[in-house]
Amino acid sequence: MQSACVPESKLPNVGTTIFTVIGQLADEHDALNLSQGAPNFACDPKLVEGVTRAMQAGHNQYSPMAGVLALREAIAVKTQKLYGAQYDPGTEVTVVASASEGLYATISALVHPGDEVIYFEPSFDSYAPIVQLQGATPVAIKLSPADFSIDWDEVAAAVTPKTRMILVNTPHNPTGSAFTPADIERLTAITRGTKIVVLSDEVYEHVVFDGALHHGMARYPELAERSVIVSSFGKSYHVTGWRVGYCLAPAALTAEIRKVHQFMTFSADTPMQMAFAEALADESSYLHLGRFYQHKRDVLARALEGSRFELLPSAGSFFMLARYSAISDERDSDFVLRLIREARVATIPLSAFYTDGTDNRLIRLSFAKDDDTLIEGARRLCQI
Ligand code: GLN
Repeated sequence: MQSACVPESKLPNVGTTIFTVIGQLADEHDALNLSQGAPNFACDPKLVEGVTRAMQAGHNQYSPMAGVLALREAIAVKTQKLYGAQYDPGTEVTVVASASEGLYATISALVHPGDEVIYFEPSFDSYAPIVQLQGATPVAIKLSPADFSIDWDEVAAAVTPKTRMILVNTPHNPTGSAFTPADIERLTAITRGTKIVVLSDEVYEHVVFDGALHHGMARYPELAERSVIVSSFGKSYHVTGWRVGYCLAPAALTAEIRKVHQFMTFSADTPMQMAFAEALADESSYLHLGRFYQHKRDVLARALEGSRFELLPSAGSFFMLARYSAISDERDSDFVLRLIREARVATIPLSAFYTDGTDNRLIRLSFAKDDDTLIEGARRLCQI
């Protein structure tokens, strides 16, 4: 249909998200999908029963705007138990319709036109566009390509009087790196005495490997006071399509976030919230995730042993990076297309996570898949 009102784009440099583009190509070529960070295996049937029971019991209307109280209480208990921080379910815990909404609501509530937001690239692809939509400036700092750690001296140098927020993500999508106590120390020192808010995307908080701790902001009181922590049940319960996440933040920040959340979605799906409230009461429902995904990381890594892919270490998340420069000197996006067409396996080019398209000849592999898919995916990758 023709339209006389072709708009001036608010996001002229943004196309369709890479996950959709690659997902469609994977379907067209009947490729195995190691691209999206979404499990291809079932969740615990008890969770589905919980949702069904909630629906049958008539919990089918709006939940309270801030979320089902029993779920907010369960989140507060879990956070206290694991990280020692006390969040008031009444004023400091907000259930949102996905971590993506939590990030959007937080940035749009707290970042003003002209502000600067420091974030790290490669990064999840929504961060910079959300900042731009506020009329603010996303300030990208590149992670060191050697180990994807943060150069905190560079961060300190990038802070200006306009810096409103530093956006961090640990464990990290797409690289699988994770914060260490040294990162926490530097972030604390850089933000001390400022009004900078730390927005911390911690959706992979339970997916940490090799016995390490999750160094999230709630563990560190001085950081917690200036942080909005965003997490998600999708990643922790193998149900990325259910779209329920939450924000933890001091009351003054939460009040502003809720003002936006109430006009974005008002509330998340009620029956899902009821089921998560039940599930969270049993800590074994999430505490096994580190071991569970570590096994998957290792299955994929073992299946690629002896190939010409060089795997970079993954300390957490659903992801591992693979360097292919011993196989080809193609751009990563071309190499990924060839993998889909010729090897029939889909991955994500790391350049998609940089606004300037930086190409380190790396691809992102998702190991949130059943073991057979990982083994078959690796076999196909070895054919190229
Ligand atoms: N977070 C997931 C990933 O990085 C999926 C994101 C999406 O499909 N929008 O793969």
